[in-house]
Amino acid sequence: MYTIDTLRLEITQQCPLACGHCSVSAGLRRTQKMDHTVACKLIKEFKDQGGQSLIVTGGEPLLHESLHSILECSKVCGLNTILFSMGVLFDSSYRLVPIDSSRALEMKNWVDLCRVSLHSGLAARHDALTRIQGSFEATCLAVKNMVKAGINVTCTFFAYPGNLTDLLQAATLCDELGIHELRILTSVPQGRAATKGDSLFCAFRATQRAYRYDR
Ligand code: SF4
Repeated sequence: MYTIDTLRLEITQQCPLACGHCSVSAGLRRTQKMDHTVACKLIKEFKDQGGQSLIVTGGEPLLHESLHSILECSKVCGLNTILFSMGVLFDSSYRLVPIDSSRALEMKNWVDLCRVSLHSGLAARHDALTRIQGSFEATCLAVKNMVKAGINVTCTFFAYPGNLTDLLQAATLCDELGIHELRILTSVPQGRAATKGDSLFCAFRATQRAYRYDR
């Protein structure tokens, strides 16, 4: 008999970024959110069936008003709780803001690991992929706050023809930020990525599995 080890919940499709490779076509106007009572019911059922790990993703899960309750539910169930987040929100003027130290400290109580994406060591190149200016700086600041709060942060690098030469720089940046794992991802032809044709595919497709960078 098979058991499901990991449950992945996409709790919102809203995101302040607008990445060209986004597999869920997330964006600012996509305000749908999973009801937290539904999320908690799924988490409990998953635990009862022998589940071990929960991945909470989006969109940007930090934009879900009940994120705290969902993460709390996961931890109370004893699950390894992983958050996929860029660490960024938006203010009332829709300007990008990184999570601050107090939000990061709060997250530390409910998250075992947070995975962010850095697509280059160069701000302009990262921002070209997220299609939001300032996103590189905001995510770097968010990571600093997370690491300072004691959160275990790992990183993904979306490899496409426009950033292949940036990999080493991205790895160096990760090291400087206190991130000791960098996974390389390639395009999945779904969501917004499916509208980009072959422009996002690259030779890294040969690396179908994730690579790890360890200090
Ligand atoms: S940060 Fe993630 S969810 Fe948001 S647009 Fe980019 S790929 Fe999509």
